Amino acid sequence: MDKLINQLKAIVGDRGWISEPGALAPHLTEWRDRWLGRTPLMVMPRTTQEVADIVLACRAEKTPIVVQGGNTGLCGGAIPSADGNEILMSMRRMNCIRNVAPNDFSMVAEAGCILADLQEAARQADRLFPLSLSAEGSCQIGGNIATNAGGINVLKFGTARDQVLGLEVVLPNGRIWNGLRTLRKDTSGYDLKQLFVGSEGTLGVITAVALKLYPAVKYLKTAMVALSSPAAAVELLGKLRMEMQDQVYAFELIPQRAMEFVTRHIPGCRDPFDSPSEWYVLMEIAGERESLEEFLMEGYRAGLFQSAVMAGSIAQGDELWRLRHSISEAQKFEGESLKHDVSVPIGQIDKFVELASARLTHRLPEARIVAFGHVGDGNLHFNISQPVGMDAGSFSKVAGELSEIIYETVNEFAGSISAEHGIGQSKRELLQQYRNPVELDMMRAVKKAFDPENLFNPGKVL
Ligand code: FAD
Repeated sequence: MDKLINQLKAIVGDRGWISEPGALAPHLTEWRDRWLGRTPLMVMPRTTQEVADIVLACRAEKTPIVVQGGNTGLCGGAIPSADGNEILMSMRRMNCIRNVAPNDFSMVAEAGCILADLQEAARQADRLFPLSLSAEGSCQIGGNIATNAGGINVLKFGTARDQVLGLEVVLPNGRIWNGLRTLRKDTSGYDLKQLFVGSEGTLGVITAVALKLYPAVKYLKTAMVALSSPAAAVELLGKLRMEMQDQVYAFELIPQRAMEFVTRHIPGCRDPFDSPSEWYVLMEIAGERESLEEFLMEGYRAGLFQSAVMAGSIAQGDELWRLRHSISEAQKFEGESLKHDVSVPIGQIDKFVELASARLTHRLPEARIVAFGHVGDGNLHFNISQPVGMDAGSFSKVAGELSEIIYETVNEFAGSISAEHGIGQSKRELLQQYRNPVELDMMRAVKKAFDPENLFNPGKVL
């Protein structure tokens, strides 16, 4: 290891590595402190060639590499193993936007660019880069693509996968693949870039990406409605989409319990309604104010929801979004939280919530269910907060059983055990359990073809 470490330090130069334990610490655990890894060295390359040189050096010594972006992933994918024999590669110094081409509606950026910086670069060019998630101030575009991130605008624009026009990747054999094309149409052979989307660092290092841009949005309107059930939300979504066509950007479900947690714990957050409701939906629509107003008036008269508030300014819209974005943070104040990032077909969300909730409360009546999220694309964060009066130890004893209830119910609805956070190390066994053997064999074959020595993020995904 010492010889390799010296080689790696020489490749990246004096400012390109960290080995001091205090400085390494934030990179060895993740947002929820669920995993603790070890590494003798974190390298921070500045160029694609440096990445390739690092890969070749590690390969020669048969030393595994774990790539880390913004380390906001929620499945432990970017955390090295606890045995301390893996090199950590941070992409944070590869943060240059190589090109913004407004008329091509495209942008080329290095993998270490922070998502919010790319959104801003698009805005400066009067364009929109629509990928948006609560972690956008810290997560990197390379990480977004490696996890096929979703977020709040999937309903209109699709996931990270849909934003990728091309990629530059350093393969496990050290070769650099320059696939940074910005073509909209290309049927010349297999669509290789898609293999790396959602590959979670197991097939290579994404070093740069070519992304789609869209016209900047002129009118974006935000409203929140209070309604009685997820079934009412699904019905409202159907009507809204028919009325507004493809102008519905976001449609987020929020339960009363989440509203309660957020207003209790996050300074400056307040419930915009006079009286509490069982459920809320936060929606964002591109279009004139009048058309949303009209839709809400008609929906109210038809009894689709009980009340509505519409943001009258950008600041008011931000306030409503803050309620939604603060849910995960607020849950931290309520003790342990069991998280399940799942998806089912959109039209089945209400039945799924009903059945899963009934089964959970049958098993643990005092379970505090917080099921919220991107209902517009069938994705719920079906979380359970530690019951009041139950200690964390007792809660963790039933955690496995509660999760199993949720995953089994998801499976009955032909849903997915991971909608947008990936597999990492937390859902590896679940993947084996819930994807069919043919799919798993194809995944293993792909992994073997790219990384026969299993040196890229071993122990993750498969
Ligand atoms: P990391 O966490 O650093 O890495 C994630 C995985 O990608 C790891 O397996 C890593 O090895 C791999 N990787 C990273 N960079 C590269 C690269 N350049 N090449 C190859 N592999 C790489 N996710 C959503 O999808 N939607 C949400 O709405 C959402 N909300 C969130 C809210 C909060 C508060 C938090 C903390 C997280 C949220 N996430 C969400 C999860 C997380 O932000 C995403 O998974 C994000 O895409 C991870 O990006 P990252 O740069 O932090 O990647």
